[in-house]
Amino acid sequence: MSDENKTIHEFDFELICEYFSSIERQGPGSPEVTIKALSFIDNLTTDSKIADIGCGTGGQTMVLARHTSGQITGIDLFPAFIDLFNLNADKLNLQDRINGIVGSMEKLPFQNEELDLIWSEGAIYNIGFERGLNEWNRFLKTGGYIAVSEASWFTNERPAEIDKFWQGAYPEIDTVSNKVAKMQNAGYIPLANFILPENCWTEHFYTPQVSAQKNFLKKYKGNKTAEELIVNQRREAELYYKYKEYYGYVFYIGKKI
Ligand code: SAH
Repeated sequence: MSDENKTIHEFDFELICEYFSSIERQGPGSPEVTIKALSFIDNLTTDSKIADIGCGTGGQTMVLARHTSGQITGIDLFPAFIDLFNLNADKLNLQDRINGIVGSMEKLPFQNEELDLIWSEGAIYNIGFERGLNEWNRFLKTGGYIAVSEASWFTNERPAEIDKFWQGAYPEIDTVSNKVAKMQNAGYIPLANFILPENCWTEHFYTPQVSAQKNFLKKYKGNKTAEELIVNQRREAELYYKYKEYYGYVFYIGKKI
């Protein structure tokens, strides 16, 4: 299809994918944090079945694969991310244990009680924390694990500017204790939770974006969509640096009852 035949929506979508494909991760996280979350999970064997939902280009999946045995299926809505995901798996010679597929977290292609572990870093917000925990539960075996990272408030109160931003971006953001209660109510023992350290946002997420943004703006000079995307990303980063004592990402690890 030539560019002229594409709708504006398709073009925007491709630009956004291109931007996020140029960075190693599409959300805050780090190899250390993936390994730490994994340390709460027992009983994985070479027969274990693991799903990484909203896997993006697979930054965390490759870490997960190196520290577990068993089969991992990565699922993401965006084909461009899955292409890169499978390329990354090939490069690391992990293609026999990792398979990336295009699909939606709202309609997962698994059987009831098929999975030993559901992993999802910085992605469950797309379906909503509560809905995701409830709907994904049936795919796990009894005693299986779920590990998700999610935007959370650290305090009961916060400045109006950041509260307003999040009410617009993701109104389901909530305090850590409320999130833990939601996990318990969805049929899991809340085994552990911890706040992701700041370097997951800085060193691993916002810092690599500085040069990615420069390159992207150079390539798409005068393109309104591209410029708006970068303005939004920069605004999000500024707010993080200003208000990071009030919110962040938290890993929640649960065991299906
Ligand atoms: N886990 C990765 C990516 C997080 S960004 C990381 O931590 O780096 C969120 C991801 O969710 C994106 O890759 C986006 O394409 C994906 N996503 C959004 N909506 C989705 C849906 N309905 N089903 C599956 N994936 C979805």
